[in-house]
Amino acid sequence: MKLYDLTIHEINALLCKGEISVKDIVQSVIDRIEDVEDRVDAFITITKDEALKEADVIDNKIANGEKLSKLMGIPVAIKDNICTKNVKTTCSSKMLEDFIPPYDATVVDKLKRQGTIFLGKLNMDEFAMGSSTENSAFKDTKNPWNLDRVPGGSSGGGAASVISGEAIFSIGSDTGGSVRQPASFSGLVGLKPTYGRVSRYGLIALAPSLDTLGPITKDVTDSAIVLNAIAGADRRDFTSSNTPVEDYVQALKKDIRGLKIGVPKELLDNINSDVKNAIEKAIGLYRDLGAKVLEIELPHLEYALIVYRIISSAEASSSLARYDGIRYGFRSDDYKDLEELYKNTRTQGFGPEVKRRIMMGNLVIGADRYEDYYLKALKARTLIKEDFIRAFNEVDVILTPTSPDTAFRFGEVRSSKEMSLSDIYTVPANLAGLPAISIPCGFDANGLPIGMQLMGDLFDEKMILQTAYAFEQNTDYHRQKPNL
Ligand code: GLN
Repeated sequence: MKLYDLTIHEINALLCKGEISVKDIVQSVIDRIEDVEDRVDAFITITKDEALKEADVIDNKIANGEKLSKLMGIPVAIKDNICTKNVKTTCSSKMLEDFIPPYDATVVDKLKRQGTIFLGKLNMDEFAMGSSTENSAFKDTKNPWNLDRVPGGSSGGGAASVISGEAIFSIGSDTGGSVRQPASFSGLVGLKPTYGRVSRYGLIALAPSLDTLGPITKDVTDSAIVLNAIAGADRRDFTSSNTPVEDYVQALKKDIRGLKIGVPKELLDNINSDVKNAIEKAIGLYRDLGAKVLEIELPHLEYALIVYRIISSAEASSSLARYDGIRYGFRSDDYKDLEELYKNTRTQGFGPEVKRRIMMGNLVIGADRYEDYYLKALKARTLIKEDFIRAFNEVDVILTPTSPDTAFRFGEVRSSKEMSLSDIYTVPANLAGLPAISIPCGFDANGLPIGMQLMGDLFDEKMILQTAYAFEQNTDYHRQKPNL
């Protein structure tokens, strides 16, 4: 096996034994980028020279006897809506094409302190709006399992880079599924932590009441390792939580006998039959492992998608108001007065999906419609949260598919509304603030990966990681690699 195909913990073990250097692993990943990136198109910016320099720095530290942390020397790539000091952060938008942040996001800062090596910034749907990465203003990222298929989105570059060996792990943002859905389309593990578990400082906002940051990794252990490093309160994000951070790696090996898994049955209707079969097989395996599988009811879940669309576009329209051509970012040079400067900047700087959402957002929070749309959506959000509170009185985790389908072809899903159906299983966790993880659970008839989602109660990341780990120990879907 090639070094670039290894997990964080496998590389860490080799580094600890002194069998490889950090330079070896960084070089392996960079060679891989050179080999496959022109086909995969996962990156917007590659910081190769800095990565190689940093590898030497870390190798020196190791030679000087510095204790190795789990993430020391591990190459990571970052979604391009997360601020990185002195490295372009574009949100895959013309609006921020030349934006160079003067500071690091808290997650980036924490990873740097652990000695991770930064490889660059990853392609995404513009401002994280989408489920296929086709909304990027710059390029289409391909799914390494089949280059005619989308990698999922909006963290499509994140998933494609990790499964193809162009990064050992990546960090994405998840507002309605953008870490989990691309992970599921790519045969990877995607974790959306509880709202507030990981600081959002330095994440360019899409919908601040739903936005979270999480890792895309090759297995569950890696997911726990990264969560250990990035979780915790941050005085620069007042919505980050003081709830104590647990040791998620230590927690993995717990026996799941007697664990109660809830399955909302109605959710398995109208989905791809290969996905349905894989999920049913997974449920069977959990039963064999001694878990109890219970049918649960989440009666308001049918409203989740529309509630998500209303709330996320309302918040997005307000988050994006700052791109006016005055303060920072793109400015049109075609204007006669201030009004035209705003108008032409926004007309030329934003792509069609972003404009659609700004319009929808303005519509649902407009003075005459606010009560009919936005306020109703907030009330429905509360009902959805209450459904989950009731459910978690009965069960420990909730199991669903991550997406009703596997990776689709470019251009196959045309309307924004149709695209949003892809998020039907993922948005509820964002609305309710719950932690959720997607793990590989099979392949469809075309050899494309299928993902299973496990949702947990607030701040119970431990539980979903343990449950995911038990599944992974008894399957080998996560070890499969595409033929690139
Ligand atoms: N696909 C969803 C959307 O288009 C979720 C995006 C996200 O999580 N950033 O809004």
